[in-house]
Amino acid sequence: MIVINNYVNGEFIESTNGCTIDNFNPATNEKIAIIPQSSAKDIINAVDACKASKSSWAKLTIHERAEWLDKIADELNNRFEEIATLESLDTGKPISLARNVDATRSVNNFRFFADLARKMKKTQFEMNDAMNNVINKPVGIAGLITPWNLPLYLLSWKVAPALVMGNCVIAKPSELTPMTANLLAEVIHNVGLPKGVFNLVHGYGNSCGQALVEHPDINLISFTGGTATGKIVAKSAAPMFKKISLELGGKNATIILDDADIISNIDNIVKSAFLNQGQVCLCGSRILVHESIYNSFLKQFLKSISTMKIGDPLDENTKLGSLISNEHLEKVESYVNLAKNEGGEIIIGGKRPNLNGKISEGAFFEPTVIVGLNHNSRTATEEIFGPVVTIHQFNDIEDAINIANCTKYGLAASIWTEDTKLGESIAKKLDTGMVWINCWLHRDLRVPFGGVKSSGVGREGGFYSLEFFSELQNICTFFNS
Ligand code: NAD
Repeated sequence: MIVINNYVNGEFIESTNGCTIDNFNPATNEKIAIIPQSSAKDIINAVDACKASKSSWAKLTIHERAEWLDKIADELNNRFEEIATLESLDTGKPISLARNVDATRSVNNFRFFADLARKMKKTQFEMNDAMNNVINKPVGIAGLITPWNLPLYLLSWKVAPALVMGNCVIAKPSELTPMTANLLAEVIHNVGLPKGVFNLVHGYGNSCGQALVEHPDINLISFTGGTATGKIVAKSAAPMFKKISLELGGKNATIILDDADIISNIDNIVKSAFLNQGQVCLCGSRILVHESIYNSFLKQFLKSISTMKIGDPLDENTKLGSLISNEHLEKVESYVNLAKNEGGEIIIGGKRPNLNGKISEGAFFEPTVIVGLNHNSRTATEEIFGPVVTIHQFNDIEDAINIANCTKYGLAASIWTEDTKLGESIAKKLDTGMVWINCWLHRDLRVPFGGVKSSGVGREGGFYSLEFFSELQNICTFFNS
């Protein structure tokens, strides 16, 4: 069990009120850490630290700040295995996933934004009699709020571009997954980043997180989390005209056309449904299958699911770990019960697995497939964020597009077809920020990431992030005659 502190003004300190939150490993229910239960006072202190350091940080060149990002990436890489282990303990996700996805991306995010920042070009618009120079200035103090499903992966995705564009940062990770945010603070401390440039404040969302959003001197909020929380964040930030980015929930469609190569792609389709126990905002939790291949698809899909090993997250062979908490497990179960009431048939899973030893009481749930539901049902349209998918049949493409677009969400979709031109034409009709054709979660970090409708506002990724984390200023200089 470790005691975690806030990191404010270059020091690891307790919350000012001395209150704490217990942090558990959801696979074993063991208490693994105590974290500060910070209040508005801690946010005020972090803002003061940012104010004291922001002008010297902003004065560095972008190349100098990129050097800092590389130092952070190097040190994170030295602690790669520790990141993976902490992430697995904190979230219950399989260690192999924590290595291949979480630890890998956390290092890469710093490297990627360092390289990209170095590639930024001058933007100029020449007139007959004047030159316009568009420059990217730091926004000031950036408040970064992140969820529990990909803890350091998502935090580093915000910290790296925020820092490289010259902002000071106050990060508020999920109270359920504080471990790797703390590791990042240690790394930043060890590489010697000037104090006050990066601050980390732990605590509950409705107190510490809310205070971060409400502080008038925090100029920008980058929030990733649930849609309901996003609404509260937007409502608080809007009257202060803060720059805001909201990456919210999803209920993504996986559209399988009649010519799809099911045999080759089945493992990827299963992965899109159940990666991280279905706790990825991009997971395809509504599978729409052409009626002519429905039976053969279902056979392959269930066969592939049945090979996934549920078990100890620290076991190298485990494919499905535990959910984030018992509370979340109960929410997932309640949706399975709802599905039954809505007329759905559970054809695999639908219950807690029988596991032995130290994980016997963990928050595990079997991968679950539900058929026979109306595509407008609550189960098929609300975000469950667990290992639960619904399958629906369609008979023509317009039908599939209408079903895909029928939820309030609009994050991502995938389309599986041998006719990629047709796939692209369908993609254009989907109300989502992202569409994959014959792949899923195939990420190029330069592309815009984000959703429409209730899935969010704004885009992160590549130059879109660098622009979001900076303020554009146009300087028009009249030519002397
Ligand atoms: P959540 O909204 O409960 O919490 C997210 C963060 O917001 C946490 O740090 C929490 O403490 C904080 N928070 C809560 N109330 C707050 C408030 N009033 N003011 C400020 N901060 C507050 O989400 P979660 O359960 O941690 O994460 C799961 C959700 O995140 C899912 O809906 C998932 O789809 C979404 N998500 C979206 C993306 C994306 O990129 N679109 C990525 C990952 C997760």
